[in-house]
Amino acid sequence: MKICWFDDNKLGLVHDGMVFDVSAALDHLPPQPYPGPMGDPLIANLEGMWPHIEAAAKGAVGKPVAEARFLSPVARPTKIIGTPANYVKHVAEAEADPEIITERFKGRVEEQGLFLKANSALVGPAEGVRLRFADRRTDHEMELGVVIGRTASNIEESEALSYVAGYAIALDMSVRGPEDRSLRKSVDSYAVLGPWMVTADEIEDPDDLDFSLSVNGDMRQESNTKFMILDTKRQIAWASTFYTLHPGDIIMTGTCEGVGPVVPGDVMACDIEGVGAMQVRVEAGDGYDG
Ligand code: MN
Repeated sequence: MKICWFDDNKLGLVHDGMVFDVSAALDHLPPQPYPGPMGDPLIANLEGMWPHIEAAAKGAVGKPVAEARFLSPVARPTKIIGTPANYVKHVAEAEADPEIITERFKGRVEEQGLFLKANSALVGPAEGVRLRFADRRTDHEMELGVVIGRTASNIEESEALSYVAGYAIALDMSVRGPEDRSLRKSVDSYAVLGPWMVTADEIEDPDDLDFSLSVNGDMRQESNTKFMILDTKRQIAWASTFYTLHPGDIIMTGTCEGVGPVVPGDVMACDIEGVGAMQVRVEAGDGYDG
């Protein structure tokens, strides 16, 4: 199944190139007394919601995927976790280019540790990336996004994939420079997730998926998740030794080689085998003076 948020915060079910408005199913979400439990309420209750989503889809009029404005398929994660330096060829290009990483960020992923991106950076593909700085390099990082489905703490690697709700395309947009990653990668709109979440049952092996990103039709990044240094289950298990993972939490699993700068007017086209495809426009954002 593929679920999404689209247009004016409608809940959608994507099927055969069409998106169906299943917002009526949201009436069946358990009441959420403020402040409620941590995590995204829809993702937390997804199992019980499927019958209602399917019922709402019956008789719903679909609209072509190409005409829908896709928002982030997770509305309210408690955190967005990033895995750095997770592809050998990306580590090599980064270490060869002082514009990409400075001395303090060199080293293997196990030494670097994970990082966090602010939740306020999260957008869907239709919202676009809004650049803040005309005078600083901002790169695309194309990644597999993992969405956690249930609460996890100190879990075993062998069990880790059973905690996944689904997968989506992720862009870990990054200002290059010497500051901490959490600053440079948390600008508004610098965490793109979309166009929908494909449920985990549809992805046989998240560690063997072709993916690519082109900018204005020029191929920039093309790889397969099998080249990750830490595979999906290791990243989830490792993250869960530091943080309790809550439903809707997102892991951006690292980028392959081919990262590069974008400027206003660029269009990034992203594709992950078995997940989907999306286009993301780059615009001049708040404070951009170019
Ligand atoms: Mn990244």
